[in-house]
Amino acid sequence: MSTIKVENLSKSYGDVQALRDVSFEIPDGEFVVILGESGAGKSTLLRCLNGLTQPTSGSISIDAEEITGPRDDVAMIFQQHYIIEQMSAYGNALTGSLNRTSFGRSLLQWNDREDKLAALEALDTVGLLDEAGQQASQMSGGQQQRVGIARALVQLPNLLLADEPVASLDPASAESVMGYIRDAADERNLTTLASLHQVNLAREFGERFLGMKDGRLVFDGYREDLTIDV
Ligand code: ADP
Ligand code: ADP
Repeated sequence: MSTIKVENLSKSYGDVQALRDVSFEIPDGEFVVILGESGAGKSTLLRCLNGLTQPTSGSISIDAEEITGPRDDVAMIFQQHYIIEQMSAYGNALTGSLNRTSFGRSLLQWNDREDKLAALEALDTVGLLDEAGQQASQMSGGQQQRVGIARALVQLPNLLLADEPVASLDPASAESVMGYIRDAADERNLTTLASLHQVNLAREFGERFLGMKDGRLVFDGYREDLTIDV
């Protein structure tokens, strides 16, 4: 669990203002869906939270500590899952432990007993324990994305970020994968921010909603505040 505070965040790419003075706070363990059309600034916001992108101005803190770069306790799920097709579901999940360096680990220690258990637990969380040995290339798009979720969980994050995690899936798989993300977040008490462009999925799985347009935060509220045009 992590408390997030974003203050007056702006990001420009040359003449393009991708984020304009965005501020919000997220308490521990909340499941937040970011809504907005393509180009609204969702990816830029998530990349700033992940420490992959430096904001032009403003600040982000996690548990009152300002972010200056990527952190071990922040995991990200991507639209393109970047899993290794030649490896098994289990092998892919295990690679999530490589992102945990804070415990003084080295590459030689990456598959110790603790990591193996974490990989199996994560595969169980996403309903793929029986498919652990299956090569990723043999799996469906939805299953591959669930492997990507498992890998993020093996990192043992406090904050889970997901950038359009279901955008490339058919509606049924998209709903199933969002369900696994929500369940994983609830089970592990993870503060979560997921961007989506499907309002129906946002309504089904979101607890709190941030609406973005042209780099600005134009909506911030809970389910009961959601209007039809968000
Ligand atoms: P979204 O995720 O909502 O589609 P993005 O954060 O990807 O929005 O993009 C917001 C704006 O910033 C868009 O106009 C996009 O073209 C621009 N943008 C994003 N990344 C870059 C980049 N690396 N270089 C230049 N412009 C970018
Ligand atoms: P999304 O809408 O899912 O964020 P985009 O197609 O906007 O995806 O962006 C995909 C990648 O291209 C991102 O890494 C983003 O930073 C980069 N990008 C987006 N717009 C631009 C741009 N105008 N110039 C350079 N890179 C960009």
